Amino acid sequence: METPVRLLIHGASGRMGQALMRLAQNDARLRVSAQSGSRESDRLRDLPEFDVAIDFSSPEGFDAVLALCLERGKSLVSGTTGLSAGQFAALEAAGARIPVLWASNFSLGVAVLDRLVGQAGQWLKDWQLDILESHHIHKKDAPSGTALSLGRTAEAASGKAPVYHSLRGGDIVGEHTVQFTGMGERIELTHRATNRDIFAQGALFAAVRLSAKMNGHYRFDDLL
Ligand code: NAD
Repeated sequence: METPVRLLIHGASGRMGQALMRLAQNDARLRVSAQSGSRESDRLRDLPEFDVAIDFSSPEGFDAVLALCLERGKSLVSGTTGLSAGQFAALEAAGARIPVLWASNFSLGVAVLDRLVGQAGQWLKDWQLDILESHHIHKKDAPSGTALSLGRTAEAASGKAPVYHSLRGGDIVGEHTVQFTGMGERIELTHRATNRDIFAQGALFAAVRLSAKMNGHYRFDDLL
């Protein structure tokens, strides 16, 4: 049997962190060797060895874990949203030194939705473009990272700038609709996540794949 990939779960006490911890513990390909949260972020240097860090924390947490991975020469999978343009640039630059992957959404369904949106946009250049997203009340950023990614794909294909609509309520895991509106007709492409385990499974899959990759800046799509 192959040696398990050693994981650092960054943001381990959060909603995603808890799902990652639970699923990784039952996955023979993986071993959680380190975990961290906001209170420990200034003590990251003391953490045990790991091969791949999985980050679902906050923009501040992302900076700290990226610096740690660069310092130790380890891979980083991040799903943290609300990152600035400067943080994306830092991630891209880090790809020259370590394997890195960031995705606004780690579900297979959203990866497929993104491709469908790109195709639809090519045919619907004059139609109005709206992106509707709903999430639980604790979500901090709006529009969601997934909505922005879908918007970029739709705009690149159709040339239309999207209008974003965000709703926060209850315990909604995540819903996204890309709506193309023409005169007398409308197309709605929707993805509904009902369980955040799908994101955690996708991130764990990405960690296994990334552990075997050369330095570089990867997309979730590249690994599917
Ligand atoms: P959460 O608030 O439940 O958990 C965040 C965790 O990060 C907590 O444990 C917190 O203590 C920790 N944290 C915050 N700041 C930190 C810091 N500076 N250093 C270290 N740890 C820090 O949030 P959540 O619902 O688990 O989501 C976390 C992030 O993941 C958000 O940005 C969210 O939008 C994103 N997310 C992405 C996907 C995806 O598929 N890409 C899916 C769900 C959530």
